[in-house]
Amino acid sequence: MAQSQQEKLYFQTEAAELLNMMIHSVYSNKDIFLRELISNASDALDKRRIEALSNGEYSTEYKAEIRIERDKDKRTLAISDNGVGMTREDIENFIGTIAKSGTKEFLANAKKSGADALSTQEMLIGQFGVGFYSAFMVSDRVELFSRRLGTQETWKFDSTGDGSYTISRIEGDDALPECGTKILLHLKKPGKPDDSPDEDKDYTDEWTLRDLVRQYSDFISYPIVMACSKWKDKVETIEDETINSQKAIWCKAESEVKDEDYLEFYKRLSRDWKEPLSRFTLNAEGTVSFRGLMFIPSQAPMDLLINNKGGGISLYIKRVFIMNDCTSLVPEYLRFVKGVVDSEDLPLNISREILQDDQRIRVIRRSILRKLFSHLRKMRADEREKYEKFWKNFGRVFKEGAVQDQENADAILELSLFHSTDEDALTTLSDYKSRMKQGQEGVYYIVGRDAAALKGSPKLEAFAAKGYEVLLLTDPVDEVIMARKHEYKDKDEEAETKFLDVSAGDVNAESESERKEAEERLKSFEDDFAPLKERIKKSLESTLSDARLSSRMTSSPACLVSDSNAASMQMEQLMRAMGQEVPASKRILELNPEHPVVRGMIKLAKDGDSRVEDFASVLYDQAVILDGGTIADPASFSRRLSEIMNSALDKVKP
Ligand code: ADP
Repeated sequence: MAQSQQEKLYFQTEAAELLNMMIHSVYSNKDIFLRELISNASDALDKRRIEALSNGEYSTEYKAEIRIERDKDKRTLAISDNGVGMTREDIENFIGTIAKSGTKEFLANAKKSGADALSTQEMLIGQFGVGFYSAFMVSDRVELFSRRLGTQETWKFDSTGDGSYTISRIEGDDALPECGTKILLHLKKPGKPDDSPDEDKDYTDEWTLRDLVRQYSDFISYPIVMACSKWKDKVETIEDETINSQKAIWCKAESEVKDEDYLEFYKRLSRDWKEPLSRFTLNAEGTVSFRGLMFIPSQAPMDLLINNKGGGISLYIKRVFIMNDCTSLVPEYLRFVKGVVDSEDLPLNISREILQDDQRIRVIRRSILRKLFSHLRKMRADEREKYEKFWKNFGRVFKEGAVQDQENADAILELSLFHSTDEDALTTLSDYKSRMKQGQEGVYYIVGRDAAALKGSPKLEAFAAKGYEVLLLTDPVDEVIMARKHEYKDKDEEAETKFLDVSAGDVNAESESERKEAEERLKSFEDDFAPLKERIKKSLESTLSDARLSSRMTSSPACLVSDSNAASMQMEQLMRAMGQEVPASKRILELNPEHPVVRGMIKLAKDGDSRVEDFASVLYDQAVILDGGTIADPASFSRRLSEIMNSALDKVKP
């Protein structure tokens, strides 16, 4: 073989560590190496297709295939593809380095925690998919030949997994005739590995390989070809045979597909190692016909430990892969849904730009949405626990739709779950409405950071006294939804029900006549209250727009409410955290004239006592804390509180 000078290179430390782990593998399911290599080959063929379609220089006339060659005597196994291939730099970057996010941290943590080799390996394979490296579980030497689409050179990578590898350029017969990659495995000797109860499989055996391909890679959309023996009239001939059915899993009837096959397909599609929470299929005929297979993952991809590459919806046209992450097919708030859509009615040369305004895509999108909503509704009715899991993981993202997607906002709200004062479990709006009491003016809600803390808010006291249920909204998006939507109605309802923020100054729990009565009663305190009001307003004028008496509370002395169109404290904080300048809107301090503290303060103000300002300031800061806000000057709050305690203790001092 003609070969240019070899260059010896070293694996990045973590990559070397990983390789070492693979070489001395204690993982019993070594079979997965074949799935990983075939999967890489299939990805490379997808990439070539995409490049050929978008770059006029490259031919689209080639016969895409993945080939398996085995040699029993030499104990080698080769997996090759005529996909996009790799340049020398690609090989160094992709193979010599661990680029996958999270792997490095995972290895470091496993080492620190002293996890045993087997569980570390199981986790690694499960969570990250060790990809190409898994070849070293079954090989003591791996050669990789690759030629990148659009280049003439073939590069060879060669390693025994000992921490270094060589790279050289190949010329002559061993150079690849077209772009693609060939991975040549020098298989380890079969037999019983040291601490494994199983006999290693012979990966050069035709039936072993056939079984593995059927089991793991049957749905790969490119032919996987292998020379197989055929017996005819007692004469054996060797012929190429495609050993995967290539039958796209989404084209089969659900009854034809085993759960394991769906799972295997999901794992490849999503790069998620956990079983999906739920799946559904689509089969639409009409103006646009298409089939689809969708999954809802069982955990949110934000988790650092998960490799969240790929995903979204992949588009196929007439069984041919077109693109991953086809954002035109689902709205942003459904970005967690994984799946494929395959249509007969789209042209093969469709581009991302065209997709955006394509009428047919819009039809498909609408139909995916409709099916997803009905699937979720069914899940909520029949599998409540599962639904709550879905909600816990993705509810926050899903709800964004109530703001982004006017057309479906009610359907999204109908599916939403909320914490509430009356239920320990999450509740829906419909259930809330079915519990609404006579005289209740709408769906009451309060916004804050934490449901448990919200439950103790003084603003809920009057509502609780009336037996009115209040939704406890804890996601920042909730407030935006409520502010935009104002009202809501179930599918089969005529009239809308208003959303009412109990923190708004003009929302209260009283009926018209009760309100009048309360006003009368408050009026009787007004004269006494006047001096206190003036001093509070003066001393807190930079933060308060008003101080007033209120019947909102039954057992607390004070709370803060806002003008109906002001943003809440949470929203202000959120916007500031996002780098926006938000002037703090002034709030109204409401005081409960029946409370001894307020009564005492009224008296102090009347007497001209100098401590009124300190009391007012502490009362205000307390109300801020109860609203989940941060007080402006904790040092002076603490000093004032100590003084108040001190004077209270004076009375008990001997
Ligand atoms: P993963 O496939 O999960 O990204 P791998 O370690 O298996 O991880 O591969 C790393 C990268 O090497 C791939 O993302 C791809 O860019 C490249 N690669 C691996 N196998 C091939 C192949 N057969 N053809 C082209 N590129 C490949």
